[in-house]
Amino acid sequence: MRSTASRTGMALILAGLLLFGLLSFLIRYAVFSDEWISHSNRSGVASIEQVTDRSGAVLYEPHADKPYSEDALIRKATVHLLGDREGNIDPLMLKQYIPQLVGFDKINGTYGMKGGNGQVELTVSASVEAVALQALNGRKGTVGVYNYKTGEILCAVTSPTFDPYKAPTVADDADKTWEGLYLHRFFHSTYTPGSIFKLVTTAAALENIPDIQDQTFNCTGSITVNGEVIHCQSNKAHGTQTLEQALANSCNCAYAQIAQQVGAQRLSRKAAQIGITDRLFVDGYWTKAGSFDLSGADANRVAWAGIGQDIDLVNPCQYMTWMGAIANGGKAAEPWLVRRVYSGGKLRYEAKTTYTSSMITKAAAAELTDLMHNNVEEMYAPVNFSGVKVCAKSGTAEVYGKENTATFAGFIASDRYPLAFVVIIEEGGSGARTCSPVAANVLWACINVMKAES
Ligand SMILES: [Zn+2]
Repeated sequence: MRSTASRTGMALILAGLLLFGLLSFLIRYAVFSDEWISHSNRSGVASIEQVTDRSGAVLYEPHADKPYSEDALIRKATVHLLGDREGNIDPLMLKQYIPQLVGFDKINGTYGMKGGNGQVELTVSASVEAVALQALNGRKGTVGVYNYKTGEILCAVTSPTFDPYKAPTVADDADKTWEGLYLHRFFHSTYTPGSIFKLVTTAAALENIPDIQDQTFNCTGSITVNGEVIHCQSNKAHGTQTLEQALANSCNCAYAQIAQQVGAQRLSRKAAQIGITDRLFVDGYWTKAGSFDLSGADANRVAWAGIGQDIDLVNPCQYMTWMGAIANGGKAAEPWLVRRVYSGGKLRYEAKTTYTSSMITKAAAAELTDLMHNNVEEMYAPVNFSGVKVCAKSGTAEVYGKENTATFAGFIASDRYPLAFVVIIEEGGSGARTCSPVAANVLWACINVMKAES
C-alpha cells in the first residue's frame, strides 16, 4: 500500500513538473518568440530579396553577386542603414522586421520564405542621401530630414562612411580619419547644441513670461552673471534688442538674461517636455539620450545652459523631431524609416503615423515659427528659398579641445513640403556659414523628390 501511495505521489509530482515546464515554455514562447526568430537569423540577410528607397531605386539585394547600389555615392550614403559584409555595422533597421520577413507568427511558426523573397521599402531617398553626403564633403557629422506630418525620414546620412566594396582598414587611425566610422551619428551620437538650443529657451520664455516679446535686452558684448563673465561672439556689442533681434543675432548676453528670467526649474521642465533627455525608437534604432541637468546649478550655469553650452547634449534625430513639433503646432509625427515589408508576395507590415506628445503650446509654436523665419531672412541667405517659408537657427558649439561644432536646425513651414531638418558638422566652425549651404542643398533635393512624387 505504502509503495503504491508513494508511486502515485511521485507520478503527481512528475505530472506537476511537466505541466509547470510546459506552461513556462508557453509563456516564454509568447513573450520571446519574435526575439528567438531575430536571433536565429541574425544577419537578417537570408530572408530579404530586395531593399528599395522611397522611389523604388534598388539599394540592396543580399543574394546578388553585387548586393549594393551600382552608384558608389549611394553605397556610401546608405551602408549604415543596410549593414556591411564584414559585420561591423549591424543592420538594426532590417533586423527589426525579420519576424515579418520570414513569415513568422506565434500560431503557425514560420510559414514560408525559403531562399529569401522579402521586400523592404524605405522612406529615405537615395538621391537625397547622395546629395547630403556630397554636401558634407568628407567632414564628420550628420544630416537628417523628415516629413513632420507623416514621419517619413527622407535623409539620414552619417559621415565618415565608406564604400562597402572597399572597406577601409581602421586599425591604425592615428589622425582619427575614421573616428566613429561604424556609428550612425544621426541615431547614436549626442552633440553640444550651441545656439540651436536657444530655441528651447525661447519656447520656455514664450510660454512662461507673458510680456517677453515686449521686453528689450541690452548687450554690451559681455555680461557678468554670478561673478563670471559671459561673452557674445567676438565680444560684439549688440546694443538694445527685442527677443526677435536677440534670437537672430544669437546674442549670448540677452539669452543669459532670458534664461535667468525663465529660471532653472522651468528651463529643465521644458527640456524634459521636449524629450531632450529621452530616447526615441526609430525602426530598430534606440536613439542616444541627450542630457540636461541643472540640479544644484548656480545662476551662471543656468545662463550657459540657456545659451546651449554647459553640459547640454542633444541627439540629432530627437532634435529634428522637436523642430517638427514647432512646425506642426506642438506635436510632430514620430520619425520612421521603413514604409512597407512584403514577404511571399504579401504585405506583412505597413507603417502608420503616430504623434509625439505635446512639446510646445500652439500659440508659442506659432510665435517661434515667425521668430525662426525672421532668422532665415536676416541671417541665412542660402536657405532663403523664394516661395517656401524656411525657419531655422544656427549654432556654433564650443567643444573642449576641439574646433567648434557647427549646428543648424529648422523646418519648412508648408503643407506641401512639411520638412524638418538638422545638420551637424564636427569641427565645422560657424553653423550659419558651414551648415546652412548644406541644408539648402539637401532641402532642395527633398523638394524635387516630393514634386516628382505628386
Ligand atoms: Zn550680444
